[in-house]
Amino acid sequence: MDKNKKRLTTSSGAPVGDNQNSITAGNRGPVLLQDVHLLEKLAHFDRERIPERVVHAKGAGAYGYFEVTNDEISKYTKADFLNEKGKRTPMFIRFSTVAGELGSADTVRDPRGFAVKFYTQEGNYDLVGNNTPIFFIRDAIKFPDFIHTQKRNPQTNLKDKNAVWDFWSQSPESMHQITYLHGDRGIPATYRHMNGYGSHTYKWVNEEGEAFWVKYHFISDQGVKGLDVDLADELAGTNPDYHTEDLFNAIEAGDYPSWTLYVQIIPFEDYKTYKWDLFDVTKTVSQKDYPRIEVGKMVLNRNPQNYFAEVEQAALSPAHFVPGIEASPDKMLQGRLFSYSDTQRYRLGVNHEQLPVNRPIVETNNYQRAGAMQYGQQVSPINYEPNRYDEEPKEDSSVDINPFEVEGQADSVPYDSSDHYTQAGDLYRLMSHDEQDRLVQNFVDHMKPVTIDEIKLRQIGHFYKADPDLGTRVAEGLGLEVPAEIKNEATE
Ligand code: NDP
Repeated sequence: MDKNKKRLTTSSGAPVGDNQNSITAGNRGPVLLQDVHLLEKLAHFDRERIPERVVHAKGAGAYGYFEVTNDEISKYTKADFLNEKGKRTPMFIRFSTVAGELGSADTVRDPRGFAVKFYTQEGNYDLVGNNTPIFFIRDAIKFPDFIHTQKRNPQTNLKDKNAVWDFWSQSPESMHQITYLHGDRGIPATYRHMNGYGSHTYKWVNEEGEAFWVKYHFISDQGVKGLDVDLADELAGTNPDYHTEDLFNAIEAGDYPSWTLYVQIIPFEDYKTYKWDLFDVTKTVSQKDYPRIEVGKMVLNRNPQNYFAEVEQAALSPAHFVPGIEASPDKMLQGRLFSYSDTQRYRLGVNHEQLPVNRPIVETNNYQRAGAMQYGQQVSPINYEPNRYDEEPKEDSSVDINPFEVEGQADSVPYDSSDHYTQAGDLYRLMSHDEQDRLVQNFVDHMKPVTIDEIKLRQIGHFYKADPDLGTRVAEGLGLEVPAEIKNEATE
């Protein structure tokens, strides 16, 4: 063999003599068990698939950097990567759809995941958001039920519109998000043409120990654009990877997409008096009350080399905080703090953070040992703490969480407010007439396959409460009438 050519090897590094013909007893066979190259090849192939994410299975990823453009931000957080104008932090992003499987079409009506990993000098900070500023539900205890309705019916293995609208119509906190989802932003033109939102309220803490509540908004520098519904349907058939392809090709061509990050800063004590519950992820915080402040720019400039290793095995988790950024009491966020890392442990194993795409750029020092696929990062024989060895890792009380008072009884209680209609109605009313028309049509088209009138009527009631015009128009489109008791309630 030519010495300059790369030699084909087994996984254990042994050169392979023949990769076209199995070793057989005589020309006809049977095949011999001693063909260890064949056994390894088949066995590895048999294990190529790992469990797909139960949500956000289909996605695309890219690397880039985040650069701070506003010196003032360090007034609100001591987060190292935000403490100086001009500071650049490498980052990775994964965009995704939510409900479809790994091979499903990109151009469906669905929220898009917008999950950013910042590789900071104080460990990884993951901001795992969506392209919507709100969510369907506000307590994680409802999440498995909600997702079951978005996935396939366990008998027919078909998508089930009855289940979707049965759940939504009995979970009116979804009204704001479904209005957002059925508007023009529900099918983005590309991943580059959508905003990203942290969605939850988070807590920032500055050097003086002063705390603020914060909302994140990544605003697309490409502009926000939706995809025409008919074109989206066509693309789902002709090019189901349309958004994945667009992102890859744009970056490959040097047309780097970027987003400007803004935050809304909310003084800590305001959570007691603000007109909306700051920790209710089905609500937005008005920019008239808390205007956006620019933080910096995110630029995507590098495609992954190995999709499986870097995108499929990317593990983002809202539990990845850095000093200066903390959780809020948002009940949906609290559940996600557990669930994301848990799902990655199931999918990838307990040591998934040692994989190159997930590995922090700083040293990790702790007393966790062993576990499947341990990469050998922790080499010291001291695997307990406290210990008498000064050179072994020690806690640092300067990064303790910022304490805040809680009161009340331990109990299963709903949020105080059940006004699910005002903000959904506001959103409807801020849409142009054309977008309102498309929204109504999208609702009608989506609800038509529902075979149970009770479900449709209950949902029409919610639309009517958000805006009588919206409720009336959807009812007409479905050939139904707004229930009299809903109209009476509205005029009382
Ligand atoms: P705000 O001024 O706080 O928010 C208005 C925002 O609405 C805009 O900044 C824009 O957000 C977004 N928006 C504009 N057109 C559309 C559209 N066609 N579809 C979806 N979003 C759109 O006003 P209010 O506090 O009075 O809120 C009114 C409604 O705005 C809310 O009920 C909410 O649904 C919606 N909204 C509010 C956001 C917020 O964080 N306050 C963010 C997004 C929507 P952007 O610049 O992010 O595109």
